[in-house]
Amino acid sequence: MSRVTIKDKTFETSIPEAEILERVKKVAERINKDMADKNPLFIAVLNGSFMFASDLMKHITIPCEISFVKLASYEGTTSTGKIKEVIGLNEDIRGRHVVIVEDIVDTGSTMKRMIETLGTREPASLHISTLLLKPGKLQVPLDIEYVAMEIPNDFIVGYGLDYDQQGRNLRDIYTLVNE
Ligand code: 5GP
Ligand code: MG
Repeated sequence: MSRVTIKDKTFETSIPEAEILERVKKVAERINKDMADKNPLFIAVLNGSFMFASDLMKHITIPCEISFVKLASYEGTTSTGKIKEVIGLNEDIRGRHVVIVEDIVDTGSTMKRMIETLGTREPASLHISTLLLKPGKLQVPLDIEYVAMEIPNDFIVGYGLDYDQQGRNLRDIYTLVNE
């Protein structure tokens, strides 16, 4: 176990790089099989998914395309609180088989919003792939087909995920140490 300090917090290695890469490869193999003749369009959600998207794509061996979106969040006026807007998607996804590439699904509200937004653009099918899922936190019904790893409810950083924009460059995944 190694520890890192980011700003005011301490984190400890919880998933080493080798294990992450193994799990990512397994997800890629499933997608290769399921989508072999579908020319899927991967839509990676920035910033957090950049490392996952990169390693995932290295193991995708079928014809495919990739594009990137960002989510702009602002305080909504309804009781749902934070609403996220999908920005930067220029591709026409009508009739396409779309695979969303996300870093982590926590409550699931971000993914729900993505599915609703992309759904209005009439894709042939919509699939979710996520590096990490916290099953204990999921609050909305979501069909998440491709999950690389399930983790406990703790806050993590590394492999693209940040704490206050820091730590995205770490190769391993680290969990917050509660002191
Ligand atoms: P959800 O909408 O599913 O509740 O939240 C998803 C978003 O919250 C993720 O895309 C990510 O930005 C952030 N998030 C949730 N859990 C974690 C975590 O443990 N670490 C980091 N760095 N971000 C998280
Ligand atoms: Mg994310």
